[in-house]
Amino acid sequence: MSSSSRMPSEYARRADSDLIDAIRKTKDRLGGEAAILGHHYQREAIVDLSDFVGDSFKLCRDAAQAAARHIVFCGVRFMAESARVVARPEQTVQHPDVSAGCPMANMAFIVQVEEIWKVLAERLAGRRIVPVTYMNSSVELKAFCGRSGGVVCTSSNASRVFDWAYSRGDVVFFFPDEHLGRNTGNARGTDPARIRVWDPMQGEAQAGDPSMAGAELILWKGFCHVHTFFTVDHVRRAREAHPDAFVIVHPECTEDVVRAADAAGSTEAIVRAVSEASPGAVIVIGTETHLVSRLANTHPDKTVLPLARSVCPNMQRITLANLLWSLENIGEYNIVEVEEEVARDARVALERMLQLA
Ligand code: SF4
Repeated sequence: MSSSSRMPSEYARRADSDLIDAIRKTKDRLGGEAAILGHHYQREAIVDLSDFVGDSFKLCRDAAQAAARHIVFCGVRFMAESARVVARPEQTVQHPDVSAGCPMANMAFIVQVEEIWKVLAERLAGRRIVPVTYMNSSVELKAFCGRSGGVVCTSSNASRVFDWAYSRGDVVFFFPDEHLGRNTGNARGTDPARIRVWDPMQGEAQAGDPSMAGAELILWKGFCHVHTFFTVDHVRRAREAHPDAFVIVHPECTEDVVRAADAAGSTEAIVRAVSEASPGAVIVIGTETHLVSRLANTHPDKTVLPLARSVCPNMQRITLANLLWSLENIGEYNIVEVEEEVARDARVALERMLQLA
């Protein structure tokens, strides 16, 4: 939820070098008043201009600790909403393009989750269900988890969050990414027969499936198209071309791709794996292409390659032009707002997540 305004078209006509120069000057003029938070999947120039760079977990923590009066969030909407929830009330959070959403976050709506929650509570009567939402979800789902004894997780801390959830209940209901949920369950040794998928398109009839009663992990049937693009065949071809390569993929990839890779890890874990690899190493990465290119550029002593080229177009909606426009109109346009009651409940779930870092 945010007030939106349209950027004047002359910004989009300016050359990148001119925009970069103007952004630097505007940042200097604003001094410590504004902080730019940039996600790893942003284009390289925006990452270079950002004061804080990270995955959604790190940026949420950075937003909670930022001293600046204004936060300009270069990422997608659910990240900017989370920053709004954890930032201090007197801070503003500005999103350079409010249309930069996440298709996966849009695969689960609060009305659907609340309905299914009631159905599961009846069907699994006597068993304690703990709702866990991925960071990549709307603020309303985070609020639902906050008021329902649940929590938020990211790919950085999903295992720890699952441990926390199972210490409080018998069943984890995880949304909206089936694959992160399944890969986390697999890594914890959850019996595959006790993992069920809830397809929101099929509705309540699924609750009648007898196997649902014995479920330990119920996964929402959602996915990230950027990461499900990768296939086992991509891994096979990478190994043929580079027999010594270390293949690491994001846990939003499908289960078979994660099994075929040498490792799976969050964006921050991938960045760390490249930094810690020995000079001369060949690392093949299954995640968003902009991060892979940047890692290749910043580690010229290693060979860093994409498993395949896969772009998140939504992340690329943040441009140098709308970043400059935001900075020149700091605290004025595209301010992210979250209803107080929703923010209060979402904060509970996000703070639980931050404590489980
Ligand atoms: S990479 Fe996937 S999960 Fe991340 S913002 Fe893009 S679509 Fe959403």
